[in-house]
Amino acid sequence: MIKKAILILMVVGLMMGCSQVESSEFEEDEIVEEAQVEIVEEVDKGQAQEENQLDDPVDPREAIDLSLEPNESGRIMVLMYHNIGEEEEEWTRTPDNFIKDLQVLYEKGYRPISLKDYASGNITTPQGYTPIVITFDDGNKNNFEYMEDGSLNPDSAVGLLMDFHKKNPDFSPAATFFLTGDIPFGQRELIGQKFEFLLNKGMDIGNHSKTHANFTQASAELLQREIGEQAQYLESFIEAEGYKVNTIALPYGTRPKDESKTSYLKEGTYDGVPYDNIAILNVGWNPGYSPYDERFNPESIPRIRASEMKVDNVGMYNYLEYFDNNPDQRFISDGNPDIITVPDDRAEQIGSQQDREIYIYDKK
Ligand SMILES: [Zn+2]
Repeated sequence: MIKKAILILMVVGLMMGCSQVESSEFEEDEIVEEAQVEIVEEVDKGQAQEENQLDDPVDPREAIDLSLEPNESGRIMVLMYHNIGEEEEEWTRTPDNFIKDLQVLYEKGYRPISLKDYASGNITTPQGYTPIVITFDDGNKNNFEYMEDGSLNPDSAVGLLMDFHKKNPDFSPAATFFLTGDIPFGQRELIGQKFEFLLNKGMDIGNHSKTHANFTQASAELLQREIGEQAQYLESFIEAEGYKVNTIALPYGTRPKDESKTSYLKEGTYDGVPYDNIAILNVGWNPGYSPYDERFNPESIPRIRASEMKVDNVGMYNYLEYFDNNPDQRFISDGNPDIITVPDDRAEQIGSQQDREIYIYDKK
């Protein structure tokens, strides 16, 4: 403390001495004040570092490169796909167009994370990059197919994702497949093998209801059967211990009109076995909130159609352009899942109930 005081006095003396000739008194005061603040901050930082070295040798904040302008209050896109097929249609992307999507995302600095990580705020995206969530609905054969010789169909969604990942190892194939019915991916005898492959590669299996039911008028009983029975059925093919099918994409994006039934989308019991969904996905139409934003609601996560057909100006390419033009709206990772880094002008969007450290910095 004494050292600090002497330092400040010395600087104040110096500043006064040399500024008297040219500056007016008003400017002089300002300069002196600035100099004082700077010195105090520097001394404090030095002390903090010394203290840190005793308990914890590395301050993880120092690994965060603020010149990359991390903004963990920004928006995250959850992309919705359905089919991959030879002809481009409203709900079908050709292999070439799907690869084009991945390439554009890659070049623009987007990197896939799992839906479960998005929902729980475990953002592991390297710093300077933007997380993105890729989803496929319905579990058609064109999503994941093994050929007669046992090889993976290179033009299926999984084949294309794996190939793109091989060529670009820093672009994870993490995608969630929302499955309906009792023959997910259209090959009954290969269900278990496919699930094992997906989970080994960091992809996820999600719930899309037992019969692709419309939930608008559904009773509590029906909701629990559609969701609970399907979760149990899908889990019965999974050998990985503890893996839960606990994310759901609402069929047709429908919710019960009777709000007293809405809670069954998240929690319920079927045949004595409870379920608890950590993420409930809608069909449209905009980018999701940061998982640290107070407005983030994992029970109602919007998605964006990954298509160029009939997207009504709210498709994936519209939002890519929007984020190009409004980079401050985009989530930029700080590379550390335990710290939430935000520029000071966005700090108020971060909810107060965080179990992670919040790091607010001065955006120049
Ligand atoms: Zn569907």
